[in-house]
Amino acid sequence: MTKAKLIAVAMAAMIGFTGCNSSASQHTAKELDKPVVQEVLAFEEAKPQEPIEEIDLQQVKPNEAGQIMVLMYHHIAQPEAEWARTPENFRKDLEVLYKKGYRPISLKDYVTGNIHTEAGYTPIVLTFDDGRQNNFNMLQKEKGEWVIDPDCAVGILEKFHQEHPDFPLKATFFINDNVPFGQKEHLEFKLKYLAEKGMEIGNHTATHVDFTKADQDRIQKELAGIVNLVNAFLPDYTVDTLALPFGSKPKDKSLTTYLEKGVYEGTAYHNIAILEVGWDPYKSPYHRDFNPLAIHRVRASDLEKYVKGVGLYDWLEQFEKGSRIRYISDGDPNTVTVPEQFQDILDADKVGERSIRTYTLNE
Ligand SMILES: [Zn+2]
Repeated sequence: MTKAKLIAVAMAAMIGFTGCNSSASQHTAKELDKPVVQEVLAFEEAKPQEPIEEIDLQQVKPNEAGQIMVLMYHHIAQPEAEWARTPENFRKDLEVLYKKGYRPISLKDYVTGNIHTEAGYTPIVLTFDDGRQNNFNMLQKEKGEWVIDPDCAVGILEKFHQEHPDFPLKATFFINDNVPFGQKEHLEFKLKYLAEKGMEIGNHTATHVDFTKADQDRIQKELAGIVNLVNAFLPDYTVDTLALPFGSKPKDKSLTTYLEKGVYEGTAYHNIAILEVGWDPYKSPYHRDFNPLAIHRVRASDLEKYVKGVGLYDWLEQFEKGSRIRYISDGDPNTVTVPEQFQDILDADKVGERSIRTYTLNE
């Protein structure tokens, strides 16, 4: 049995009896034939052309062929468990990442190599699976007004970003079920809020399907279902990232293509990123072996029982020891800078229009 398989079994067991969303059983796209919201949100983030600072290569030591962690979270809740990080521990993770020079970027920017991370810092991608209410929860105050729960993932991320404006508010929420984030009356607000703030809504399939057991029709129905759900509220939003439930892929390899592209009853989808479940930092988007359709993730946990040797803190240590090579940004999204010995692993197509700059790193 592979590790991925073990996780699948554990998750299936967990999903059976926990979670605020477990009552929201099977999602059907039909339920979403509600009035489509006309208002179009300007969720495309403005990207000002910041002046590029000259950097001291020997001091900054950029290496844009290095690795990037895509962190995987599920519940943000008490108590700490295999698939739950407490609010306190989530805040601790952000603090540690911040101090060690990691800065969030969006998943889309990662897979397209559109990296605006400040010089000398390392991009990181934050992801949340299953659309739990504790990822984005609304609380009603005494006077009746609704506020974002300061202990849910979105509340914690926003507060951290306010206190540390150089830690961008970037995260991807992979949703499933008919009421992502639990509170039906707030669903529209939540989806629009995420889009407006530049956070991402990703696909985790309509019913958290196990793709090993799905046929061609089912795969497409599952993926189009989430596209319909999101587009019912955000007609112009493109859902084009997928986190595989249980990390599962179709047994029949000829069906794999439907994870990337497909159409169901007129709803088309095209995923530019497909995320697996484990287990290590993944490649630079300019690396010749970078595969945006098979991205590894790192479990954001320090519970030895579940992530011994492969948790967030283990990889932070590996990067510090140099047993894994960390991506260090040159601060210029139009240039890919690497120490000369890394030049060969860059892929010209993936580097694209950007220019390549190499340098000799003085030891
Ligand atoms: Zn899941």
